[in-house]
Amino acid sequence: MDITEQQHGIDTLERQNTQLTARVHELEERNQEMTLLNELSERLHHCETTDTAYKMIRCFLEHLFYGYHGVLYTTESSSPGISVLATWGHINKEDLAYGQAQYRVMQQQATYRSKRVWRERETQTSATSETAWGLCIPISTHGSLSGMLQLQGDMVLETAVRQRWERLAVAVADHLGLALTNLHLRERLREQSIRDPLTGLFNRRYLDEMLRRDMHQADPAQDVVAVVMLDIDHFKRFNDTYGHDGGDMLLRHMGVLLQQHCIDGETVCRYGGEEFTLIWPGVPLAEACQRAEGIRTAIQSLSLEIHGQQMHTVTASLGVALFPFHGTDDEAVIKAADRALYAAKHQGRNRVVVSEHMIKPDDEAPLLAGSPQYHDTHS
Ligand code: GH3
Ligand code: MG
Ligand code: MG
Repeated sequence: MDITEQQHGIDTLERQNTQLTARVHELEERNQEMTLLNELSERLHHCETTDTAYKMIRCFLEHLFYGYHGVLYTTESSSPGISVLATWGHINKEDLAYGQAQYRVMQQQATYRSKRVWRERETQTSATSETAWGLCIPISTHGSLSGMLQLQGDMVLETAVRQRWERLAVAVADHLGLALTNLHLRERLREQSIRDPLTGLFNRRYLDEMLRRDMHQADPAQDVVAVVMLDIDHFKRFNDTYGHDGGDMLLRHMGVLLQQHCIDGETVCRYGGEEFTLIWPGVPLAEACQRAEGIRTAIQSLSLEIHGQQMHTVTASLGVALFPFHGTDDEAVIKAADRALYAAKHQGRNRVVVSEHMIKPDDEAPLLAGSPQYHDTHS
């Protein structure tokens, strides 16, 4: 019996079955990639800070392009020019130089949107010479170049595999473009809403947020948070003598000086006008008083010039209060520090005064040790 035709039919069926299986596999892969991309966009949307977002992007790209190396660049960060947001795998100086050169080429070419730059290059390893590949994909937002995705592998790829990576990388670049723009926009808006434009310090709104957080995190049984309110003495006279610009210049210098007197994890705010607030978590009262005194003398030693004219001596009054001894919540401690500041003004200015408004029993007072002598210094 001639079974040629039957066999032919079986062969065709098997071939079609193999093709179908491959197609299903490809679709499953695409589906998985799209799910991952959507998940990334969704997660980025909920990222509070760019730092956490960058970390997440890096993990995600490493996972998605497993076995390859890559770099994500952006032009939307705070530093000028192009900067590296994330790298994964093995990326060396030469790779970065190549990526940056490609980026400059893209900037000059109007057609960069559709451009994908492939390269195949010889890399010299210790024993052999092998061909590697690299792929650069522009990231654009609202029609302008805002970053670039660079992918690299150690071996030449078959055309189909190469096309798959290229397609995926383009989809990732599209998603990241939009997500990063949103992220940077949110970050800029947030920065504007919490910073004082004149001094660059945080504003009162941020202070409220921060203080609430610090005090929420603090354990009243063992943690303390020192709060210092500072007000420049007779500031109005500076405005009257040197003009509003002179006053502004003094405020900017005050901002720098106060920041110099704080370390990481501490906060300086412009509370309003010529009033500033310092938050020092974990600093006991005696140390807070010492540091406040240091600030007072540093202000008195400021030597500022405006239009070639020497400004007269600046002094400030400071009020110190300690959570939880002078107030058990943010509002109460600020109020206590403010009352101490008012007392400092009343006693003749240019001094540090500690809040007298104690709300804790004496047996919990060791953290307050050493404070009273500051009441009447410099009178
Ligand atoms: P005191 O020692 O009692 O604190 O006296 P003072 O003159 O410092 O305080 P007063 O509240 O009388 O005056 C504060 C002045 O600060 C009035 C206001 O015009 C000025 N001021 C507030 N904000 C700014 C600002 O952003 N720039 C400038 N140049 N002046 C400001
Ligand atoms: Mg003042
Ligand atoms: Mg004031």
